[in-house]
Amino acid sequence: LGSLPTFEDDLLETTNMTSGSGSGQRLLEQRTIARQIKKIEIVGKGRYGEVWLGEWGGESVAIKIFTSQDEDSWAREGEVYGTYMLHHDNIAKFIACDKRPLNLGFELWMVMEYHHNGSLLDFLLIHSLTAYQAQRFVYSIASGLHYLHVDIQTGAQIKPGIAHRDLKSKNILVKSDHSCCISDFGLAVRHVGATGHVDISSINPRQGTKRYMAPEILDGSINYTKFDSYKMVDMYCFGLIIWEVARRTSNRAEEYQLPYFQHVSHDPSMDDMRKVVCTDSIRPTIASWWSEDELLTLLSSLMQECWRSNPWARLSALRVKKNIIRKGLEKFEVKNGFPNHTFA
Ligand code: ADP
Ligand code: MG
Ligand code: MG
Repeated sequence: LGSLPTFEDDLLETTNMTSGSGSGQRLLEQRTIARQIKKIEIVGKGRYGEVWLGEWGGESVAIKIFTSQDEDSWAREGEVYGTYMLHHDNIAKFIACDKRPLNLGFELWMVMEYHHNGSLLDFLLIHSLTAYQAQRFVYSIASGLHYLHVDIQTGAQIKPGIAHRDLKSKNILVKSDHSCCISDFGLAVRHVGATGHVDISSINPRQGTKRYMAPEILDGSINYTKFDSYKMVDMYCFGLIIWEVARRTSNRAEEYQLPYFQHVSHDPSMDDMRKVVCTDSIRPTIASWWSEDELLTLLSSLMQECWRSNPWARLSALRVKKNIIRKGLEKFEVKNGFPNHTFA
């Protein structure tokens, strides 16, 4: 994992230092972070295993546990979190990676900041939103996504642009201040220098969640060596997420539903999705009454400009932010009684 703070290095050092003394195992147990954390309860499940609430020195942490077969995903996600300057209020906070001995093999841990509200999907399932809350969710996701996507040069060092490749409401977490942060970087790709290319040579463009797959992935027209292609894929997914949020907004909020719930079954195939999204050019339904509500009108236009079929015609994350600043923000802050609130 390169220069990441893996506590495995710490562990090896300790073992070496004491080799021959016969007390290496005892010191090893003292030093590894995984042994200092108590697992409390499972809080989530994803593609690669379980996420636990843990307790570390009196603080809550989240522990994402990968099995030894998923070592590549664990290493990749740790590597992405180790990217230079990847610190932002709207990007999940990584604490450490560790390998924890288990029976004859090991368990792979990724320790992260814990968010008791869980994912955006979990939150939307049980809460409807005021205009202010909805706007704050969308704005904070746009902020995180813009920061993720952008290349930043500081002197000789560069924070490379990163594209997520599996953006969905389940991979966004709701913080206690009700802003969001983007998480689950297992499929992310990074921009290499100013080359326009990504840092993985053999990429499978068809990974990701089928329901959220952009038309260019479904029909195979994506230029999968170009970094920009993946930013545009993220923007399509963001459009679907804005729709999920909009449905749960205002006192006429509808029950939570996944995108395309009316058009495909519970576990759609690529063919199902291709027929709906590419052949029939269907997108999630925009309720006619949304045009009577100022914020829902804004969100409707944002989602439609994000999920366009032509990737080049989609909004950038920065443009979403700016449109919210121009047309929403203050008005909804004041209307909902949060005049002094500053956005992250
Ligand atoms: P996977 O890569 O397996 O999909 P995720 O990182 O998306 O794993 O985590 C799976 C689920 O666990 C999330 O959808 C969310 O519900 C929960 N979760 C993940 N990270 C945290 C966290 N830091 N705090 C609270 N819940 C989390
Ligand atoms: Mg996930
Ligand atoms: Mg993942």
